[in-house]
Amino acid sequence: MGKKKVFIGVGHGGSDPGTVGYLVEKDINLTMETACRDFLTAYGVDVKMSRTKDEDGTVSQEVAECNAYAPDLAIDVHNNSGGGDDFEVFHTIGGSTGKTLAQNIEKHVKAMGQNSRGVKTCQGTSGNYYAFIRETKAPAVIVESVFVDTKADAAQADALAEKQAFGVAYAKGILDTLGLSYDKPEEESAEPEQLAKEHWAQPYYDRLIAKGGASTKQGLRIQSPGVRCWRCWIVL
Ligand SMILES: [Zn+2]
Repeated sequence: MGKKKVFIGVGHGGSDPGTVGYLVEKDINLTMETACRDFLTAYGVDVKMSRTKDEDGTVSQEVAECNAYAPDLAIDVHNNSGGGDDFEVFHTIGGSTGKTLAQNIEKHVKAMGQNSRGVKTCQGTSGNYYAFIRETKAPAVIVESVFVDTKADAAQADALAEKQAFGVAYAKGILDTLGLSYDKPEEESAEPEQLAKEHWAQPYYDRLIAKGGASTKQGLRIQSPGVRCWRCWIVL
């Protein structure tokens, strides 16, 4: 089975800051989406982002890039303005996979503590109002994480960890939609064995033994790197 592919559009950038209030949209979009990408990549998904730094780009370029990449799913990340409150997500009129993706993302956003204004569609004169939803071939959604011009709502995303939590919520919604699991237990670390061979204090301890300053019955207790264990202090 080939790897699943996800395209991430990162709204605005360069000379276009997006909406500006208590936060600057182009910056927080990028931080959120970098966390989203990292989470997806960790679970075996191939990801392409429309930008990975602060640079210019148009929606039509994003759409062309997305269609050339031919992903399984696409997400475009924005933040709102206009004095409202809470998260919202838009999908294709008529629903199907895009709607499922929107619902899965909303579920994880709510689970992290942000309220939702809803899972929505937006009618334009030629179908879907938003080009990223109308012109992309893959099922696509647009998320609006917080209102940057509403103080209390912007405060939901002012810290780095909060922005990253939005990105992870988006990634989990995407993985749910792709049918991929992300609750695997952490792999056992190989660290303890390496430490057993190379405790930082071993040379000092050996020297003390050579001088008769320590008992060979006392060993060096292995702890995490850089942490001085109580026995090291006593012996040294
Ligand atoms: Zn925007």
